[in-house]
Amino acid sequence: MKSKIWLSSPHMGGTEEQFVKEAFETNWIAPLGPNVNGFEKDLELFLGNDCHVAALSSGTAGLHLGLVLLGVKAGDEVICQSMTFSATANPITYVGATPVFVDSEKDTWNMSPVLLEEAIKDRIEKGKKPKAIIPVHLYGMPAKMTAISVVAKHYGIPVLEDAAEALGSSIDGQKCGTFGDISVLSFNGNKIITTSGGGALVSRNEDVVKDARFLATQARDEAPHYEHSKIGYNYRMSNLCAGVGRGQMDVLAKRIAKRREIYDRYHERYHGKKGVRFLEEPYWYFSNRWLTTILIDSAEAGFTREDLRLAFEKENIESRPLWKPMHLQPVFKEYPFYGDGTSEGLFQNGLCLPSGSNLSDDDMERIFKVMDEVMG
Ligand SMILES: *Cc1c(COP(=O)(O)O)cnc(C)c1O
Repeated sequence: MKSKIWLSSPHMGGTEEQFVKEAFETNWIAPLGPNVNGFEKDLELFLGNDCHVAALSSGTAGLHLGLVLLGVKAGDEVICQSMTFSATANPITYVGATPVFVDSEKDTWNMSPVLLEEAIKDRIEKGKKPKAIIPVHLYGMPAKMTAISVVAKHYGIPVLEDAAEALGSSIDGQKCGTFGDISVLSFNGNKIITTSGGGALVSRNEDVVKDARFLATQARDEAPHYEHSKIGYNYRMSNLCAGVGRGQMDVLAKRIAKRREIYDRYHERYHGKKGVRFLEEPYWYFSNRWLTTILIDSAEAGFTREDLRLAFEKENIESRPLWKPMHLQPVFKEYPFYGDGTSEGLFQNGLCLPSGSNLSDDDMERIFKVMDEVMG
């Protein structure tokens, strides 16, 4: 059996072990310590825009805390991009709120600002103004944040930005992760950089980030004994994980460049093929190209997405259909949905290609061989 080629696997830079070693030597083996503070500073510097950062145990924890900090409560409604990973939507249910799903537009595959406004109007008419809006930057491609923000401001609804897949992406120079009232990053093992597992909550409002740190460490009031006036969580990032994160920040720019190069190689070789489409960057948009994705119109192309996926599987190469929209998921299908079929089409015909920054030239040749055979 040939060795497995993964969609996206961890890629260490080299300095991570030194930070972890320091944590051992100084006995900072806890969900606090110098690496946590250092990693937060690194992220603040990278994101710019006067952002403050709280390092957390996962992106999912960040989304949960984000909803708590925005005051979302049981019985409230939260608007959520339908086409995404379930981790975007699950936290809405953790606080007892109801997700209202909104479809994608065709340029970035993310939340349609037009359908967003339709949904808000209809929810208000039905008696409830949504308490938050969660757009996502899928595969690193920024959502139409300018238009989404205009709608959000018009109706006075805060934006919780899920930038889990988009560290290093930007619109007109402004980094993803700085657009929301609160934004969230993920450092899970398959993301563009990893802490083995981890996330962060980001905001320009320093008090919000201080509150996030407070809630993430069991909401301990100042007192010699343990005193609590709020419900807390155990959501802080470990100092060991943050050490890995500091090392990864040293190579983030390289990782982005490499992912973009991989996209370019696929694009050069296969764009213009009948029935094959790539997700192109709109003007002023910059994607970290976390994953390269293609759309296959089987009528034109003469093969289906599944033909290609199964051919990869035979060669021990991982590929995956695009995210299955939340409104089609058994667990969420009873919730309201505002759409026009866009995300369903993407799910039917789209495929994520191996995109890890550690893919070798030999790996790429193996991938191209499969694609050449299927695509003719
Ligand atoms: C990975 C991911 C998350 C969750 O982050 P974790 O750190 O794995 O909890 C949330 N939203 C999206 C879009 C993701 O891709």
